[in-house]
Amino acid sequence: MEENKKQLYYKSTRGDREKVTASQAILRGLAPDGGLYVPEEIPPLPYTMEQFGKMDYQETAYAVLRAFLTDFTEEELRGCVEKAYDDKFDTSQIAPLVKIGKEYYLELFHGATIAFKDMALSILPHLMTVSAEKQQVEEEILILAATSGDTGKAAMAGFADVEGTRIIVFYPKNGVSKVQELQMVTQKGANVDVVALHGNFDHAQSGVKALFEDRRMAEELKKKGYRFSSANSINIGRLLPQVVYYVYACAKLLENQEIQPGETLDVVVPTGNFGNILAAYYAKRMGAPIGRLICASNENKVLYDFFETGCYDKNREFILTTSPSMDILISSNLERLLYHASLEDAEAVRVCMEELKEKGSYRISDTMRKNLREFQGGYATEEETAAEIRRVYEATGYVMDTHTAVASTVCGRYREEAQSPCLIASTASPYKFVKSVLAALGKEEKGDELSLLYQLEKVSRTAMPKAVKEILEATVLHTMECDRDEMKETVRKILEV
Ligand SMILES: *Cc1c(COP(=O)(O)O)cnc(C)c1O
Repeated sequence: MEENKKQLYYKSTRGDREKVTASQAILRGLAPDGGLYVPEEIPPLPYTMEQFGKMDYQETAYAVLRAFLTDFTEEELRGCVEKAYDDKFDTSQIAPLVKIGKEYYLELFHGATIAFKDMALSILPHLMTVSAEKQQVEEEILILAATSGDTGKAAMAGFADVEGTRIIVFYPKNGVSKVQELQMVTQKGANVDVVALHGNFDHAQSGVKALFEDRRMAEELKKKGYRFSSANSINIGRLLPQVVYYVYACAKLLENQEIQPGETLDVVVPTGNFGNILAAYYAKRMGAPIGRLICASNENKVLYDFFETGCYDKNREFILTTSPSMDILISSNLERLLYHASLEDAEAVRVCMEELKEKGSYRISDTMRKNLREFQGGYATEEETAAEIRRVYEATGYVMDTHTAVASTVCGRYREEAQSPCLIASTASPYKFVKSVLAALGKEEKGDELSLLYQLEKVSRTAMPKAVKEILEATVLHTMECDRDEMKETVRKILEV
């Protein structure tokens, strides 16, 4: 293959002058000025779509990531890809495309935790350890995470037994589903710990944040050979691996003549923190045949309002929905889009982010709005989401999860005006949100959440994913609990420092 000799640097969305390499950006997570790292330019795809059509997922991943991670050697990057996209996924296609009715569903839930976060979190730990080696970081990387259920387990599964890393996850004792709790407490791996916190998700989150900001603790841990890092979705190392599946999907649709050369595909993405849809935007800028980018929200429709009015306003009631991974009022990756839409006006981005912090809202300029025309917002209410699950099931037998159903609803509405084929990002297995899914189908019977899994097997006529079966039979390995004021002590105890 042609070697890309040119180094691609990363800079902050808020104007910090320092340019860093990919490995530095991945290790740091956040830029020193609080901004997010973005590539100085978005590289073109290194192959034609026709060539991509002949590649498997791993080859596609290597080719796309190679264009971004220019300070990784071929060997390093191939190693990361191989370790990430292996038989942790229950299909060799990794991200299979399913045609249901007129739409294509890109199933991103075939990994270890049956939700789309696996797509990035299975490779991030490897990108991090290679980055640490390149930057001559001697300490072990210590990941601390608070979770409302999904991210924690995906991070645990990703980091489990990755040499040079250690991960500790806090979850609210009574704030996650039975399946989610079992997924976490049965996680294997000598470097993995999980703690049930007596408190809610906010307590877990602010506790972890306080630990991150505790300088003395950081110093103390450094002496013991640990260095804090973060695996959350603002890390560029989580965004870039998500670009891969959009290129892969477009190439496969062309290869199978589902779309024709010159034709574009609109993508509909169930959105929370804006990482997934931003990856689709990057794929488009690289040259993938993507047309409109449709951002689907649940009743927490901050983003819908933003695309309609140009005003982002988080001052509103927070609504708990059946698509909890999208229950978000501050969508952090949107900052990267603002940066690109303002034609890299870091000062404008900084002002917006300051206003967001101070007032909870900001308005973008007309130029920025004009540059966002390829985006469109949409949203689905709880009733519409449930009705969509039922409609598609009754028409085709396909069962989708609640998050996917939000996108599917928005797609259906959008369909009335658009002609292009649509790709829907399917972000979770229905088994993960089994209770809401069965309720939507009107088939929820009495019994605990675990018995519902067998019920769904019958209804959907699909076998229970390996990842779910395993947790039903697995041994509980983690039983630690702690109070809100004991988090620091708990970390010390676990690390034996
Ligand atoms: C995280 C998540 C989302 C939202 O994705 P973002 O990249 O944060 O916009 C949607 N669906 C599921 C199932 C998720 O876990």
